[in-house]
Amino acid sequence: MSLTKKILIALILGVVAGVGLTFVPNNVFSAIDTYALNPVGEIFLSLIMMIVVPIVFVSIVLGTVGLGDPSKLGKIGIKTVAFYLITTAIALVIGLGIGVVLEPGKAGTFDTSNVSYEEAAAPPIMDTLVQIIPKNPIEAMSTGNMLQIIAFAIFIGVALAALGNKTRGIRNLFEQANDILVFLVNGIMKTAPYGAFALIASAVGEAGLDALGQMVMYMVAVILSLILHGLITYGIAIKVLGKASPINFYKQFFPAMSVAFSTSSSNAALPVAMKMAQERLGVKKSISSFVQPLGATINMDGTAIMQAVATVFIAQVYAEPLGLSQMLMVVLTATLASIGTAGVPGVGLIMLAMVLKQVGLPVDGIALIIGVDRLLDMLRTSLNITGDAVCAYIISEDEKRKSDNQVEQTA
Ligand code: ASP
Repeated sequence: MSLTKKILIALILGVVAGVGLTFVPNNVFSAIDTYALNPVGEIFLSLIMMIVVPIVFVSIVLGTVGLGDPSKLGKIGIKTVAFYLITTAIALVIGLGIGVVLEPGKAGTFDTSNVSYEEAAAPPIMDTLVQIIPKNPIEAMSTGNMLQIIAFAIFIGVALAALGNKTRGIRNLFEQANDILVFLVNGIMKTAPYGAFALIASAVGEAGLDALGQMVMYMVAVILSLILHGLITYGIAIKVLGKASPINFYKQFFPAMSVAFSTSSSNAALPVAMKMAQERLGVKKSISSFVQPLGATINMDGTAIMQAVATVFIAQVYAEPLGLSQMLMVVLTATLASIGTAGVPGVGLIMLAMVLKQVGLPVDGIALIIGVDRLLDMLRTSLNITGDAVCAYIISEDEKRKSDNQVEQTA
C-alpha cells in the first residue's frame, strides 16, 4: 500500500478513534492516552522535530550555494515575501467575508461575563525583524529560532559559493550530511501513519465534542474559509502562475498536509513538506530549501484565516460590529502578525490578542474559542504549509522557464 493511502487511513481512523474516545469515561481515556496514544505520538513528534533544525540549516546552505549568485537569492527572496504577504492578505479578506456572512457570533447566546484570557506576550514585529541576524548561531539552533537559522545558513552558503574550490571539502560535507538527513526523513516517514493516528486520536479525544456546542458555526466559518482559500486562491495560483493541475498538486503534497494536520506544527511538517515538493512536485532543491523553511516561519494563511474569523466572531458576540477601517486594520496587523508567528502549535491564538487589541476588541473573547482551537489548529496548519509549497512550486517553475528560454536564446 502506498504511504499516502496508509496515512489517509490513519487520519480517518485517528478521527474515528478520537470521537469514540470522547464517549468513554475520563479515567479510561486518560489511561489510554497516557500509556498508548501519547507515547506513540510523542516519539513520532520527537523523531520528526529532531531533524528539523539540521535539515533547515544544511539545505539552506546547499540551496544558497546552488543558486550561486547572491543577487539571484535576493530576487527570489523578494518574490517569495511578496507572494506570502499577498496570499495572507487574501486569506484574511476571505475569513472576514465569511465571518460577516455566516455571523458565527450570533449563532448562540454566549456568556461573556465570566470569560477571561491571560494574554501571553507576543513578540513585537520589529524585534523579530531586527533580531534576524543571530548574535549566537548555536543558541539560535538550540532554541530553534528559524529566522536566525535561515539567516546564518544563507551567510555560510554565500561564503561557500564565493570561496568555490577552496572550501570544496566543507561543501561535500554538507552534501553528505544532506544525504544522511534525507535517508532519515525517509525512515521516519514510514512511522508517520502510526504517529499521525496516535496524535489525532489523542487530540480529538481530549478536545471532546462538548466544546463544540455553540461553536459549531464558528468552526464551519473557519473551515469553509480554509477550503475556499485552498481551492480558489491556491488553485488559481497553481493553475495560472504554476501552469499545473491543482488536483495533482494536492494529491502529491497530501502526506505533508497530513503530518501538519497531526502535529499542528509547520516546523514539524517541514522536512516532509520539502521532500514532497522536491521529489513529487519537482520543485528545484535550491528553491524549495529556501522558500519552504522561510514560509514555515513567516507565512501562515490558515492562521490568518482563523484570526479573521475569530475577530469577526468576537466583535459579534460583544455586539461591537467592525467598520471597514477596522477590517483593513485587521488585514494589516494580522498579515504582520503572521510573520512573527512561530510554526508551533497554538501560537496563532497568542498573536490573535495583538490583532484584537489593535481594533479595540476585548482580548478576553479569546476564552470563548480556546476550547475548539486545538482542532482548528490541525486544519489551519495544513493550509499554512500548503501555501509555502505553492509558492516554492510557482517560483521553481518560473525559474525553470527562464533557464529554458536562456538555453533557447543561446542555441
Ligand atoms: N500551529 C500553527 C503552525 O504551526 C500556528 C498556529 O496557528 O498556531 O503553523
